Amino acid sequence: MMLETLRNIVQEVNSAEGLNDALGIIVERVRDAMETEVCSVYMRDPSTNRLVFRATRGLNDSLVGEVSLAEGEGLVGLVAEREEPVNLENAESHSHFHKLQGIGEEKYNAFLGVPIIHQRDVLGVLIIQQAKHRRFDESEEAFLVTLSAQLAGVIVHAQVTGTLQEDAFLGAALPTKIKGIAGAPGIAIGTVVVVSPGADLFSVPQRIVNNRRAELRAFKEALALVRLDVRSVADNLSDQLSSEDHALFDVYLSILDDSTIGAEVASLIKAGNWAQGALSKVMIEHIRHFERMEHSYLRERAVDVKDLGTRVLTYLQSEDREQRVYPDRTILVGEELTATSLGEIPTEKLAGIISVRGSGNSHVAILARAMDVPTVMGAVDLPFTKLQDRELIIDGFYGVVELNPTAEIKLRYQALLEQEQALSRELESLRNLPCETLDGQRLPLYVNTGLMADVTRSLEQGAEGVGLYRTEVPFLLQERFPSEEEQRQFYREQLEAFSPRPVTMRTLDIGGDKSLPYFPIEEENPFLGWRGIRVTLDHPEIFLAQVRAMMKANEGLGNLRIMLPMISNVDEVDEALELIHRSHRELLQEGYVGDLPPVGVMVEVPAAVYQAGVLARRVDFLSIGSNDLTQYLLAVDRNNARVADLYHAFHPAILQALKSVADAAIAEGTPVTICGELAGDPLAAVVLLGMGFDGLSMNATSLPKVKQAVRSIEMCDAVKVLHEVLTMDNAAQVRRRLEESLSERGLDQFIHSPVADS
Ligand code: PEP
Ligand code: MG
Repeated sequence: MMLETLRNIVQEVNSAEGLNDALGIIVERVRDAMETEVCSVYMRDPSTNRLVFRATRGLNDSLVGEVSLAEGEGLVGLVAEREEPVNLENAESHSHFHKLQGIGEEKYNAFLGVPIIHQRDVLGVLIIQQAKHRRFDESEEAFLVTLSAQLAGVIVHAQVTGTLQEDAFLGAALPTKIKGIAGAPGIAIGTVVVVSPGADLFSVPQRIVNNRRAELRAFKEALALVRLDVRSVADNLSDQLSSEDHALFDVYLSILDDSTIGAEVASLIKAGNWAQGALSKVMIEHIRHFERMEHSYLRERAVDVKDLGTRVLTYLQSEDREQRVYPDRTILVGEELTATSLGEIPTEKLAGIISVRGSGNSHVAILARAMDVPTVMGAVDLPFTKLQDRELIIDGFYGVVELNPTAEIKLRYQALLEQEQALSRELESLRNLPCETLDGQRLPLYVNTGLMADVTRSLEQGAEGVGLYRTEVPFLLQERFPSEEEQRQFYREQLEAFSPRPVTMRTLDIGGDKSLPYFPIEEENPFLGWRGIRVTLDHPEIFLAQVRAMMKANEGLGNLRIMLPMISNVDEVDEALELIHRSHRELLQEGYVGDLPPVGVMVEVPAAVYQAGVLARRVDFLSIGSNDLTQYLLAVDRNNARVADLYHAFHPAILQALKSVADAAIAEGTPVTICGELAGDPLAAVVLLGMGFDGLSMNATSLPKVKQAVRSIEMCDAVKVLHEVLTMDNAAQVRRRLEESLSERGLDQFIHSPVADS
């Protein structure tokens, strides 16, 4: 029951139209749920640090927004200062009690206040009060703490939603900065297109359409289809249900036939809303209305209304009639963008990407970096459904989204954008120059590919080959496993495009956050589950078809290298090698002409770091997958925005691991490269150079910058910087030293500082 109440309150607040609306719902619903006489919220004003009386039920609401308390002042200030609940039987007798004139709390004795904290910041204080001399009991206190912890994020959301609306006094929406995670570097200024998630009434974007008639027709058709569905379910179940149970379906049908709901949706559509948006708006209002009903039976009807609304929405979404129009400089925004959603938009129109979930290490961010599209991930506070058609700015260096930017902020970003464009023109001249240090030490730079589009870009940037071809990308774009011949064709394209330069093809690396639509893997803990080589060794038919196709594609070219992902023990390597050798023998028998390609192992699991020497002895090369290695060494999910600031690429433990793999490989005489995102960071180039890596593989966009960084240093200086950073205790120190090193070499333009507010 408590859980249900919690969920309902949070959901209701979630659909609020702004902060005032949200706080109004909170005080009303909390007062009812806790059966108390007063519930109020004080919110901290960041410009004055005062706690402002922002909403109440039970006290004098004419003073809302008028009175406030300084930091540490009164019991409310005490809650905020101590960042913990204050629970008192008699508030007035407490030394901290401070009377706010006219607020009307004299008659209330019992006081319970809990802080509202979001990402370590105290946003405000939630209070309940009662006349009776009593201490709120433990379970009440725990309930309020639980609720407040959940409400914090929702309040921030409502606050931002509010800033999207015009300010009553200023006449313009307020500029707001939303902090997410840097996904792909660069600045983008463009217009939002929201990608609708599945049928979820609460996340339908609002859109204005021209063809109102078609929208209206679609809504009526969807309604009729749901009616038919409900009738047929009712008929199918008629033998098994009592007449009382059966009456439920009559209730369903009566909700659908209710002329008010249909009429309300229709009138919003006639006013220019698209059917999905109109439906969601009306349904949410009705859901809220039912949820507030006194009688539990009527409250339960909210669930029915929601279910019906979702059914209608599903039909509407299945025939999303309006062809989506992408404006020039589109900023794609969605709750959890996928590779497929990126595929739907013409690349020349795509200026930027914002994903509410995920982090800079998610595959969608990796893809965005490959496509050179500035991206912000994990923008959890962004009310993304309300952003359709808005103009906004993305800072992909710092993971910032600027909503309603002032002319001044816009000018600053515009300048930064132009600076970046000038830098990439300047770096173009490096294209045909070798990647070598000032004293002539070569460090070949390779690219990571997946899409065919990567190939042209990579060649333009002067890549010396492919260090990682993610074969799961072409698999993702299919509706079933591609046949051996289909695979041979797309592998051949890659090999031919780069020939005679080497192309390192990784065998299928699915699982984790990469699941194929036609081969779903559902697991509690997918990153520690059935991933990469584990899947393909369990399905030798998939593995064999893949390596056969690769080798067939290699015929007459000879630039193929095969790489095995997610290796955590030597048996996996031995088994995979056996299958590769067998395929090669069979192909020779079938008339294939070609040598066995070099086979290598990815070091991306901590176990492989400790066994790097043993692995190096078995194969032709090692390549470090620093993305996964970082996530597994630091126990930080690479997709989780909440822990993204713990994902430190320059963590001393990571540096030690990289160094020990490089040392082990060098000792065995086995070439070692690195193909995680770290390889594409110009800051990292100096340490990787110092460690003796034989090559770096990165997204094509990063290549010129890394080349410039390598060309600006002497080998002995790289080794010196490496030794310095290896003695440091934390990632921030390491990063600072590496920034200094770039700066000393006149490469300040590779170090970005955030754009300040005006
Ligand atoms: C890695 O883990 O560093 C890597 C290169 O592989 P992926 O990002 O595809 O998991
Ligand atoms: Mg990996």
